[in-house]
Amino acid sequence: MLLQARKVIFTIFFISVVIAICSGPFLPDNTYVIALILYWFFSSLYSHLRVVDKTKSNIPVDYGINYSLSFAIFAGPFGLFIFEALFRLTEHVTKKCMKTAEPDEWLHTMYNIGSFVTFNSLAFYLYHLLYPLFDRIPFGFWLLLFLLIVIVSLLTDIGLIILFHVVGDIRTKQEAIDFIKTRSLFDMGKVSLTNGLLLIFLEEQRWDMLISLFLLNYFVSRSFFSKSQSIQHKIERDQFEKMAYTDFLTGVHNRAFMDKKMAELNETGEQISVVVADIDNFKKINDTYNHAVGDQVIQHFAATLQRFLTKHDFLFRSGGEEFTIFLRNRTFDESIHLIETILQAIRDSAVQVEYESKETSITYTSSFGLYFFQTGGAVSMEKAYVYADELLLQSKQLGKDRVSARSEISI
Ligand code: GH3
Ligand code: MG
Ligand code: MG
Repeated sequence: MLLQARKVIFTIFFISVVIAICSGPFLPDNTYVIALILYWFFSSLYSHLRVVDKTKSNIPVDYGINYSLSFAIFAGPFGLFIFEALFRLTEHVTKKCMKTAEPDEWLHTMYNIGSFVTFNSLAFYLYHLLYPLFDRIPFGFWLLLFLLIVIVSLLTDIGLIILFHVVGDIRTKQEAIDFIKTRSLFDMGKVSLTNGLLLIFLEEQRWDMLISLFLLNYFVSRSFFSKSQSIQHKIERDQFEKMAYTDFLTGVHNRAFMDKKMAELNETGEQISVVVADIDNFKKINDTYNHAVGDQVIQHFAATLQRFLTKHDFLFRSGGEEFTIFLRNRTFDESIHLIETILQAIRDSAVQVEYESKETSITYTSSFGLYFFQTGGAVSMEKAYVYADELLLQSKQLGKDRVSARSEISI
């Protein structure tokens, strides 16, 4: 990490040590030791639920519930320092063992101890300063805690922004504002309520309530965490599936999806037209211009075909400049009529391309083979595709720019 970032980290760590030492004599009693053990245990348990935001920077940001405020108010800066050091070192060792540690993990650990002790110690002093004022108003205690959480969050963010700025991850003012905006008031409400309750239980030594609250937080976060993870996995799976079934050049379905759909349609028993479409003399377009121009003609052909189909039909790129269509919910005659319309649309259109720095207009024609039948019977979709391909060949032999059709169903 950059020298300047190290300076920031060492400075904040040094400040926290000074605050801890200057905070006066510290005599741990039994209550402190029990609280320390409980806080340490539940904070460490919480660690693996932390959401690490790596979108903005490589430095992990901790958005989990933080219990430091109540511990600071209860134990004071020195007591807090012991807790933070113990907890962050545990986290550090765990990461090292799980091999998830960053290369300069000890700097992160130092920064976390430094910033949490410094800012929460400030909250400790503010609490004692402001408590007499807030005590007079209804819900004063809770309002004060909320205010302290807002202040600590803001200071923590400013600290991180300075650090990210030094490292170069945050450059503009807008990026800094966006970073602060990732905090939500709901989160702060959650953290202040939790810390308020913890503080009350600590002061009354209600260890059963304290443990219950820690557990409640853990269970709620845990179930939320698994849910959000499974949603994330589903989104990723869907994206991969979409990619696996999409042709990159044209954005229509690919051959793999066509095989999947054929298997499905074999079962439905519906009347369907399997249509194979192929651009005429495409090699000539490739040769006259180049492959990139050829690609644009393929894209144009796909877009034109798509334009005439409904959401019930399927369009696949089944080969280089060959497409397959499954026309559904149409009679044989309606299917032929639709293909005739498409043939005319292709004849009438021109593809605008840039070739050798000049706008060029390319016209082309296409040929179709159409086979109409009922699925689920003697003829399979795979067989129908072979028949449609043979009908396409017939169109080519008869002079191209036409459709050849056959119906398996007698009218
Ligand atoms: P026909 O009228 O008989 O269909 O003649 P054709 O020239 O279209 O003949 P054919 O179908 O054999 O030619 C297809 C050519 O398409 C061969 C191949 O180089 C080219 N091709 C295949 N895939 C792509 C592609 O993704 N992009 C481009 N630009 N060309 C492709
Ligand atoms: Mg061709
Ligand atoms: Mg071809």
